Amino acid sequence: MAEKRFSILIKINDIAEGVRNGNLRSLAKAITLIESRSPDHSVAATTLLDELLPDSGNALRVGISGVPGVGKSTFIEALGLHLVKQSHKVAVLAVDPSSQLSGGSILGDKTRMEELSRERNAFIRPSPAGDNLGGVARKTRETMLLCEAAGYDVIIVETVGVGQSEITVASMVDMFLLLQLPGAGDELQGIKRGVMEIADAIVINKAEGDNRPRAELAGQQYENALHMMAPKSLNWQVPVQLCSALKNQGIDDVWQKVVDFKAAMQASGEYEAKRSNQNSDWMWTLLMDDLKDYFLRDRQIEALLPQVQESVTKGISTPSAAARRLLETFKKIKY
Ligand code: GDP
Repeated sequence: MAEKRFSILIKINDIAEGVRNGNLRSLAKAITLIESRSPDHSVAATTLLDELLPDSGNALRVGISGVPGVGKSTFIEALGLHLVKQSHKVAVLAVDPSSQLSGGSILGDKTRMEELSRERNAFIRPSPAGDNLGGVARKTRETMLLCEAAGYDVIIVETVGVGQSEITVASMVDMFLLLQLPGAGDELQGIKRGVMEIADAIVINKAEGDNRPRAELAGQQYENALHMMAPKSLNWQVPVQLCSALKNQGIDDVWQKVVDFKAAMQASGEYEAKRSNQNSDWMWTLLMDDLKDYFLRDRQIEALLPQVQESVTKGISTPSAAARRLLETFKKIKY
């Protein structure tokens, strides 16, 4: 037993060393370990993350969202190519919880970012599979740390406007970009969904040729809408940028906004503060998830749950009395 544990530790050390050296096979192995569902692997993954934590945290983390078809992969490819030309190392990760809703993935099916994927300094990883958003987010967040330890200095996390996924991604990045189409009026996408509140920049894509006037009008309307919203930070005015990912126009200006944002947030101390808050929120999320699992996996709770649930649906018991009963039972079992 001790011997087995020792050999696992040596293996983890090897993988960690490989990741630190930017070795792609080691990085892939590390990610596989993190994505694995086996309990043995979960202990190894935690050890590996602990080992690599001091080497992580040095990247600029950028979230990108927008409806399917807005041009996310085209935009990320153009931006990624722009960045590798500037000697950045870019990792592109994804959070796509759509498989649980539709049985198919929104982000992953197409061949995406072919040109960028051929670049030596770009690493593209599709969304991990998961039964729920929490599981997918956990794996993506940990993969982000691994990529940072491997020397990637820009991490792009892509998602779609499905349920809570945008909020989840915003909670793991430094800056959140919302890609929009050049439609205006009622189509001011995102206002109703409340997603504009979490955007640090709005980018209207496909703003070329005949689309340009419509994109400009939409830009104006987004700016008006933003003026009516309470600012997220007194040190940053959310910009509305126009670009064409397809024609590679305006991508450098969008990146400049990202750089400006980082500088403004660092100067005001919000950059570090946000990361600290994110870490602390993340710890609580993990703890709550694990507690819930621990509770629901208890055999007596599992046995009691159907009848308690039924008594609530039939109106025999109030939800609060039922919840209290379950918790009291759990306390009796444990203490
Ligand atoms: P995603 O679903 O958000 O990842 O969108 P894609 O990047 O797959 O793009 C959807 C479609 O829009 C594709 O046919 C792209 O070629 C096209 N597209 C992306 N960016 C632009 C752009 O800037 N201008 C125009 N005209 N089309 C674009």
